[in-house]
Amino acid sequence: MMEVKFLELGKVNAIILDEIKAAIDDVLNSGWYILGHKLKSFEENFVRDLQMEEKGFCVGCNSGTDAISLALLANGIVAGDEVITVSHTAIPTVSAIVAIGAKPVFVDIDSTTWVMDIMQVSAKITQATKAIVCVHLYGNMVDIIKLKEILREIGRTDIIIIEDVAQAHGAVLQGSKAGTLGHAGTYSFYPSKNIGALGDGGAVFTQDKDVYEKLLMYRNYGQKDRYHALICGGINSRLDEMQAAILNVKLKYLNGWNQQKQELMKIYQDELKDCPVTFQKTTNQCIPAWHLCVIRLNENIDRDVFMEKLQNNGIQTLIHYPYPVHTQEGFQKYGQVTLKNTENLVGQIVSLPFSYIMEESEIKYISSVVKKIFSEIRNKDI
Ligand SMILES: *Cc1c(COP(=O)(O)O)cnc(C)c1O
Repeated sequence: MMEVKFLELGKVNAIILDEIKAAIDDVLNSGWYILGHKLKSFEENFVRDLQMEEKGFCVGCNSGTDAISLALLANGIVAGDEVITVSHTAIPTVSAIVAIGAKPVFVDIDSTTWVMDIMQVSAKITQATKAIVCVHLYGNMVDIIKLKEILREIGRTDIIIIEDVAQAHGAVLQGSKAGTLGHAGTYSFYPSKNIGALGDGGAVFTQDKDVYEKLLMYRNYGQKDRYHALICGGINSRLDEMQAAILNVKLKYLNGWNQQKQELMKIYQDELKDCPVTFQKTTNQCIPAWHLCVIRLNENIDRDVFMEKLQNNGIQTLIHYPYPVHTQEGFQKYGQVTLKNTENLVGQIVSLPFSYIMEESEIKYISSVVKKIFSEIRNKDI
């Protein structure tokens, strides 16, 4: 029996261990650990990687969660404003909205692409709506171009669009990289993301110089320069030199790693095409940057049994995410809403092991076990 863990971060970092060690040494010896050359250079490389050189700015911060809060703050969203987002996401998307005192308003996902159903957005817009946080879930993208068209049609181009790119770093929609289509793109370098730090990290991308300058202040106590605060409500949220140096190493590999995952995903899709499962449908004209491989089991299949059988075969699986945010105790205040597609989907999804360090043979092994389980289930007529 082959043992397949969901994700082995030690192995992910081992393939570039020497480069990571050199980057760490460099910072250690520099004697400068916060807001220095490594961060500056990472921010410049980041903008270049988004093909936005001379057109935009990157601001490194402490996490993907902070990136969302900072992007909202710098775009003028204040306490009491309504911010539309989805419930089928990682909790931090919503925590970041609540953290600045704004009110999350949940809209359902599309039943095939599993990301925000933009056709349902208009119905959620009120006079108090100031922003929409679009989550590019699992690597697929929300159609930001179409969403902008919808906002134009209803005369609400004042609404700020934030792209939560935490799970789709490197994805492309009609030639534009994820995060460059809205008013701001927010990224996470949580260790398991498309590029992961050895700790926490995040970034905001914007094309607005004024917003950029505000972001610089908000992430650094509200200071314009040392001991001189121009704004109130600034926080401490900086991407430190150590993480920036490590991320500088990893950024060069991002597109290659995304491509490898794209190919592994194709193998899964091909191997499992006759199984009672569906894959996430890619948004029209989008090249996804797959972060997770999530399959949806047909309604009649018992997920617990399925996952247990995989575990018995040495294969670890997870659920992203088992409880929609609007149904959770901590968000009760905002959760008085029915979201049919979200509620149906979460009971049927399973995330399979998936990483650019995996071999084709591992994907084929997992697929063969999945197929075997389904034939057993079929024979027992469960
Ligand atoms: C990971 C994640 C975040 C939060 O990022 P952190 O760096 O962990 O704060 C936000 N949104 C989504 C969709 C995520 O997957």
